[in-house]
Amino acid sequence: MTDCIFCRIARAEVKAKIIHSDDEIVAFHDINPEAPTHVLVIPRKHIPSISDCTPEDFPILARLLETCAKIAEQESIRESGYRLVLNAGRDAGQVVNHIHFHILGGRKMSWPPG
Ligand code: 5GP
Ligand code: ZN
Repeated sequence: MTDCIFCRIARAEVKAKIIHSDDEIVAFHDINPEAPTHVLVIPRKHIPSISDCTPEDFPILARLLETCAKIAEQESIRESGYRLVLNAGRDAGQVVNHIHFHILGGRKMSWPPG
């Protein structure tokens, strides 16, 4: 999608603090961090949400999770712990309709989430 902000970041048309980039996945710091470490991990493919995934997307979902774990290690939050968040739809507060994992870490988090 040409006007999707995360597609534009993936194509380097919009600036972001990118910390990982490969042929399928891009990861960058959230513009409005909610924790000392707040990274977004996206596929280059425009998939609006987890609800839109089909079996053909399962390999990229697995790769996204693998990349999240690697980034947590790189960002030195593997030992202290971190949270992966995937918002889907209105009630979850999804505002960017391009599937993304949030990696949140560097502080103690409460449960249940708000
Ligand atoms: P959602 O609520 O959709 O799960 O989260 C979207 C996230 O994307 C928010 O945490 C928001 O701060 C982040 N975000 C929105 N626009 C931009 C942008 O242009 N650049 C970056 N780096 N993050 C963005
Ligand atoms: Zn997109």
